[in-house]
Amino acid sequence: MSNCDLLIIGSGPAAWSCALTARQRGLNVIVAAAQSDSGWLQRAERIDNYPGMPQVSGRELLRVFRQQAENAGAQVIPALARQVSPLGGSFMTLVGNDVIESQAVVLATGAARPRLLPGEEELLGQGVSWCGTCDGMFYRGREVAVLSAWHGGVEEAVFLSGLASRVDYYTLSPHHQMDEPPYVCCEGRPQALSAAEDGRITLSTDKGGRAYDGVFIFRPAVAPDSLVPGLELEGPFIRVDRRMGTNLPRVYACGDCTGHPLQIAKAAGEGNIAAISAAEDIQNT
Ligand SMILES: Cc1cc2nc3c(=O)[nH]c(=O)nc-3n(C[C@H](O)[C@H](O)[C@H](O)COP(=O)(O)OP(=O)(O)OC[C@H]3O[C@@H](n4cnc5c(N)ncnc54)[C@H](O)[C@@H]3O)c2cc1C
Repeated sequence: MSNCDLLIIGSGPAAWSCALTARQRGLNVIVAAAQSDSGWLQRAERIDNYPGMPQVSGRELLRVFRQQAENAGAQVIPALARQVSPLGGSFMTLVGNDVIESQAVVLATGAARPRLLPGEEELLGQGVSWCGTCDGMFYRGREVAVLSAWHGGVEEAVFLSGLASRVDYYTLSPHHQMDEPPYVCCEGRPQALSAAEDGRITLSTDKGGRAYDGVFIFRPAVAPDSLVPGLELEGPFIRVDRRMGTNLPRVYACGDCTGHPLQIAKAAGEGNIAAISAAEDIQNT
């Protein structure tokens, strides 16, 4: 377990701007930055409206933002944050396979929303899981399916292969596979999940159905209200006040995840405000 004053979740302009200002305010900062190639800004060939950096590519802009934050002393963990849990006066957050304790949390997760499979949300915690580390032990010696939209699922499937009697791997979106995996790569495209009569979970694909004791699903993003239980939304976005505070004490949000306009300058500005608010609140407690 590691600890810090401020955990920032995200790896776009909002997160790096927040990390930079938080460091300048003297906070000890960890950034949970999922390594996804599908980040919005990485796809932008040319940005013309970010002041001071004309005609820059999205990839280059992100590289410079991140470098500046790291040079200022922000520590980066290249993994997906999966669950933020308040505990006493602090927060415990599962990042990859680590637990990070922090005094405050900033959500800078962007606007991408994972599209769930029919049946997924209803069966979550009842045979369906989003976390191999948390729930893998329940499936020792049993048959599980891994459904993954990114390369992060490969590592989880290897871990589960050490516990389960059989692991079948299904791809939700194309991504790199390992050469000789310890699990079975299956062809069907997952379409829905349902509870079978024997207590197992039936996975339906375009090639037919099969029942499993457990189904693990991995994507490069987590819906904000699944990431932080009790978080208030406004439509698909996180509700914030002018300090970038959410309805939960010492939880802030910035960037595209708080709503329109979905723009880099707005994301960087909100990251700056979130950092200042977090620093004030941490220093006043
Ligand atoms: C093709 C394209 C062109 C664009 N052109 C422009 C332009 O010219 N000018 C402009 O102002 N804007 C432009 N935009 C919009 C701009 O990219 C966004 O407004 C901006 O990137 C938002 O920044 P952000 O930090 O809020 O989120 P993002 O840039 O979306 O970054 C969020 C990051 O957090 C990571 N993340 C998400 N959840 C987690 C988690 N649970 N744990 C760890 N990491 C997580 C994601 O992998 C993602 O990379 C463009 C967007 C696209 C797609």
